[in-house]
Amino acid sequence: MEDNYNEIIDENLNNDGIYRKKKTVSFHTLGCKVNQYESEAVSSIFEKNGYEVVSFEQDSDVYIINTCTVTNLSDRKSRQAIRKAKKTNPNSIVIVMGCYAQTSSEEVLKIPGVDMVIGTKDRSRIIEYVERIESGECRINAVDNIMVSGTFEELKLSTYKERTRAYLKIQEGCSQFCSYCIIPYARGPIRSRKPDDIIEEVKHLAESGFLEIVLTGIHLASFGREIKDTNLLDIIKKTHSIDGIKRIRLGSLEPTTITEEFVDAVGRLPKLCPHFHLSLQSGCDKTLAEMNRKYRTDEYRKSVELLKNNIPDVAITTDLMVGFPGETEEDFLMSRDFAEEIGFSKIHVFKYSPRKGTPAAVMKNQIGPEEKERRSEIMLDLSDELEKKYMEGFVGRNMEVLYEQEMQGKEGYIEGLTKNYIRVMAKGDSNLKGKLMETKLYKVNGTLFEGNII
Ligand code: SF4
Repeated sequence: MEDNYNEIIDENLNNDGIYRKKKTVSFHTLGCKVNQYESEAVSSIFEKNGYEVVSFEQDSDVYIINTCTVTNLSDRKSRQAIRKAKKTNPNSIVIVMGCYAQTSSEEVLKIPGVDMVIGTKDRSRIIEYVERIESGECRINAVDNIMVSGTFEELKLSTYKERTRAYLKIQEGCSQFCSYCIIPYARGPIRSRKPDDIIEEVKHLAESGFLEIVLTGIHLASFGREIKDTNLLDIIKKTHSIDGIKRIRLGSLEPTTITEEFVDAVGRLPKLCPHFHLSLQSGCDKTLAEMNRKYRTDEYRKSVELLKNNIPDVAITTDLMVGFPGETEEDFLMSRDFAEEIGFSKIHVFKYSPRKGTPAAVMKNQIGPEEKERRSEIMLDLSDELEKKYMEGFVGRNMEVLYEQEMQGKEGYIEGLTKNYIRVMAKGDSNLKGKLMETKLYKVNGTLFEGNII
């Protein structure tokens, strides 16, 4: 105990031998897994530079709000977080990064208390910017034109808080320009991470004790398109060959990725989780065309058949949007029926939200909020029904569960995920965190399975 105490004091001694309190930084992250990965990576940069990372509720010297701009609600939540940070410590440095900062830098910089906006690139220079603010510079706008970005910004994780599942960003940007989506303007064109850099990080993750990695990106299906000699399948195979990694999960894909060759190859990779998130958005071809999506329901159906016929126990999850401009009741019902036919194991339902600067925002026949809400409820009910049906197919089965954390509000229980993304709770304590345990699934309890570790 005493040794540890001395160590802490030594860490805080400056070159001049004078004890100084460590500076603190705190993060609030909105939005997707890519944002979470990037917050972790930026937090590693601060830690390397002597900062202590504290919770967002605490008094901190620097606050980073990593924003999302997918919907109006995301923008609002980002603004709330900015105000909260400045209220907690009026003398703090508040930096806003991420997609909302990238697309609306001037608007964000006008919010009282914001010292800097940095967007979705150049985050590796963040300490330099903090020092500039400390020496008196104010209201820095470091947001650059993302549309001319040609390279993947290497942001590595060097410290890991959890040791079960790691999200690994391997792709940046999107060049699809779906008519409702602001992301191509927030993240710029597609850029893939170099395969050697990916493999180096996966090895590092394996050495650090992670058993599962999730390969993610803004538009993962585009991985490798702009560079020669690699593609998503190739990187999955390389990752698969790394000792220590027991599970590989893929982030959101599009049906166009699911070819016979792809399914045949991944079917031979036992570490690859039989869980595919195939973004559908609409089950009506007319709406898909208006959305500028690059597939139609026929192709989608074929991809799903390929997966279901070749990958045992496969779970297919999706994103579905309701209330896209011009979506009639008939279109909506077509979309609902198609989702039912596919038999998703879960549907993430989104209500269309107009984003300034996108073609859909100025389309005629915008749908009112009440109607969007009604359609969303119907789709959510369908999701619950399909999820229950999928889960019930596993009653009595023994499945391998990677336990992640203690159950909140239920002492003596621990929860984790099967390979096909079923959440399971079982009796157990924190010693099981990060362990793969054979578990008998015996009862569906809402969106959870109750199980017994064997
Ligand atoms: S594929 Fe479409 S929805 Fe997805 S990020 Fe790109 S533009 Fe947005």
